[in-house]
Amino acid sequence: MGKNEVSTLFSSDPDKYYRVSLFDRLGFKRNKCISCEKFFWSLVDKNTCPDHEAYNFIGNPPTNKRLDYIGAWKETEKYFQSHGHSITRRYPVVCRWRDDLYYTIASIVDFQRIMNNKVIFELPSNPLVVPQICLRFNDVENVGVSGRHYTSFCMIGQTCNADAPGGYWKDKCIDLDFGLLTNVLGIKPEEITFVEDIWIGAGAFGSSLEYFVRGLELGNAVFTEFEGDENNYRIMKNKIIDMGAGLERFSWITMGTPTSYDCSFGSVIKYLENSIGIQKDESFLSNYFKFVSRKFNMIEDDSSDKIIKLKKSIAHEMGVTFEHLQKIVSPYEAIYTIADHTRTLLFAISDGSLPSNVGGGYNLRILLRRVLSIIERFKWNIKIEDLIDTHVGYLKNMFPELEENKSEIYTILNLESERYESTRQRMNDIASTIRENGKQLNVDDLIRLYESDGITPDFLKEVNVITEIPSNFYVKLSELHNINQKPLYIPTIEGLEGLSPTRLLYYEDSSLREFDAQILKIKGNYVILDQTSFYPRGGGQEPDKGLIGDARVQEVIKQGDIVLHKVENLSSLSEGIMIKCKLDDARRESITKHHTATHILNSSARNTLGSWIWQNSAFKDVNYGRLDITHHSALNKEEVERIEKTANEIVMKNLDVNIKEYERGESEQKFSFRIYQGGVVPSNKVRIVNISNFDIEACGGTHVNRTGDIGLIKILKSERIQDGVVRLEFVAGQAAINHIKNQDRNVSFISQSLGSSKEKLTDSFKKHLDESEKLRTKIKILLRKTSPILAKSISHNSTQITPEGVKLYTIFDDELDEEFHIVVGEKSITLDPFLIYISLIPQGEGIRVIVFVGEAARKYGINAGKIAKIFSVNLGGSGGGDFKFGQGGGKFKDKIEEVLNYSEMYVKDTIKR
Ligand SMILES: [Zn+2]
Ligand SMILES: [Zn+2]
Repeated sequence: MGKNEVSTLFSSDPDKYYRVSLFDRLGFKRNKCISCEKFFWSLVDKNTCPDHEAYNFIGNPPTNKRLDYIGAWKETEKYFQSHGHSITRRYPVVCRWRDDLYYTIASIVDFQRIMNNKVIFELPSNPLVVPQICLRFNDVENVGVSGRHYTSFCMIGQTCNADAPGGYWKDKCIDLDFGLLTNVLGIKPEEITFVEDIWIGAGAFGSSLEYFVRGLELGNAVFTEFEGDENNYRIMKNKIIDMGAGLERFSWITMGTPTSYDCSFGSVIKYLENSIGIQKDESFLSNYFKFVSRKFNMIEDDSSDKIIKLKKSIAHEMGVTFEHLQKIVSPYEAIYTIADHTRTLLFAISDGSLPSNVGGGYNLRILLRRVLSIIERFKWNIKIEDLIDTHVGYLKNMFPELEENKSEIYTILNLESERYESTRQRMNDIASTIRENGKQLNVDDLIRLYESDGITPDFLKEVNVITEIPSNFYVKLSELHNINQKPLYIPTIEGLEGLSPTRLLYYEDSSLREFDAQILKIKGNYVILDQTSFYPRGGGQEPDKGLIGDARVQEVIKQGDIVLHKVENLSSLSEGIMIKCKLDDARRESITKHHTATHILNSSARNTLGSWIWQNSAFKDVNYGRLDITHHSALNKEEVERIEKTANEIVMKNLDVNIKEYERGESEQKFSFRIYQGGVVPSNKVRIVNISNFDIEACGGTHVNRTGDIGLIKILKSERIQDGVVRLEFVAGQAAINHIKNQDRNVSFISQSLGSSKEKLTDSFKKHLDESEKLRTKIKILLRKTSPILAKSISHNSTQITPEGVKLYTIFDDELDEEFHIVVGEKSITLDPFLIYISLIPQGEGIRVIVFVGEAARKYGINAGKIAKIFSVNLGGSGGGDFKFGQGGGKFKDKIEEVLNYSEMYVKDTIKR
């Protein structure tokens, strides 16, 4: 069965799947749409479903109340609370609890956890309502244009487990929603239509009833009833009600404004109108957007100018010119887009996501660049900071947490804006090249331009390189970026069925180094014990090593509940025997210290740099550790020192490291989603590692008992490894002491070589510097005195290459440096004006080219710069200069001989040109 078959199955038995008690009580009748054949329920006779209706509530709302965005939420909240629902605070828009999503895309996602490739539902209370901000980036180009599309919106999530205490099923759900529409919003029952639909999600599906008023879908009540797929399913033990309604639409239906944007951003629209200095032509816009509502879904054209076509046809029906329509509509589309995009940035950055070119962060960068481009295009005077401030001022009535992170949001947005401004010159150059070529850009070209040069199509529109943005640009781009990282490849060992889970001794007593165990099974080179203290590879922590009997353990992995030990030599082992096992103690100690140090460094970095710091990944080995953090820029020396200082203060405070298991829901509520630094925990019990409230993470690794056990943390290096990610390499414990010892040894070696003591090293180093400086001066004097003699011999040893007497001297010199050849070369051409002096000098990984041409030779058109260029190009590099002096270089050392052999030809080539 596919989606259509499920739909047919449900529709063929409406009494079972769709008929709720409300329909019978009030006399709702089931109709079939003559246009699209969908089934729907209404009190009045209708031929067509609401999909074909224009938004007649615009300018004429069907409610007895006018509710702005916050007002609509307050009424909804009060209503559900009085009907026994608890109100859950919104979850972060950055979906830390699911590996397969960057952002929270629906309210039900809050309560979904993936275990063994299966979605399970965990509700913090039953029933509940959550005002969940959802981020979706698949309709970016419709935002601001359609009147109803957003990149972020608030989904009112009415959720319950039907089979748990407090739960209810279809009848009560629809009763409640109907009550909300009629009693709270004051909509007449005959205005409401319920449309039959189905919903298929990851591993579960069910029927659903969408409810509409005057063509506008207000909500969708999904009855998740079956688990499995369409071909193989059973009724769920805990059926789920998942009703999602758009808060923006609740407000819109009561206000009847031209678009839902007009009533969903508080004073932001007014603020924008004021700073731009325009006034809304309310009746024109109302009229226009009523047309849009009817026609928007009907355009199936995928061409880049589909919006233009739509507008032209509307202009025609409204009896105005297209230009007149554009003049009124396009500034408002821009205002709406700016309002939407900045609100999305506000939520995403506040919840810890950074604009970048990777992962979900790319969406944020593109939104901000769109906003800046639009402002630039209209030459408006709008400050992003003021805009964010206006958003927060309004939204804090619903989401007070936004106020806390305001200054950090400014920091990130200002930094990103500056970055964008600084690349504009280069973007302008590229744009004018495209314009000169006159090439028509397709979607793939635009994607390449964004990927390689960060040029958004909005910018190209701004500078008139393209007229419209292809409607599938954002869809294609997001497909490209939604690829999730693949996990490290771990071979699957077959034939473990029937084995009981390994008892994990490392969790029971982390100090245990020797233990007895029974060998349950040997599979290839893998040994399975009934219990083990060997920590398996996982969460960036390297595995333990040691001995099982006298067999050396090379690798330890965990597959499901079973720990597998890979050993070198199996000869002394056999299934069933009891055996003594012993861990490499120093290795475990060192890895454990590096591991705990990653926790400390992560929180130290966050305290030092800002709230956007999250662990991106980590690696804990015996000799060093590595922590990758999410940060917008490379770190400077002071920042690294401050992080290291904070970390060592925590070490010295000798804080308690407390490890305790919690129910997953409880730990999330108690400690927030910050616990998921190392990614998602695939079990309903969560092991919380709490360093005296300085750092709290869900983690399955090995940790010290007190921070003082680490001894010392030393950061060796920091490096920006990709856009938005900075890597810290560090050593801790014995490895840190070894590192310092090594440095000390190096210092001793240097001081001995200088004939000094370590204490006086700086002084004697300075002395040596002075001495070598004096030597250099002496050499220069010597060179000046001897260069006339050298120049004379060079002139003698040169070859005449033209009848007029031009002479060529080439030399490859791996003993003397560039400075020498500059002095000697110049002297030689002064002495012999017919001379061309060319030297090739090895330098680092490459070769330097120095060319001088004497005054007489220059008269025959011989140019030092041209010669330097041709030599350098043949050496795989570049060069240039003027008639007298040329320089350059290349990297192909193996070409030196060839170049020297052809030098006469090269020189003559330059004259011909
Ligand atoms: Zn229809
Ligand atoms: Zn840990």
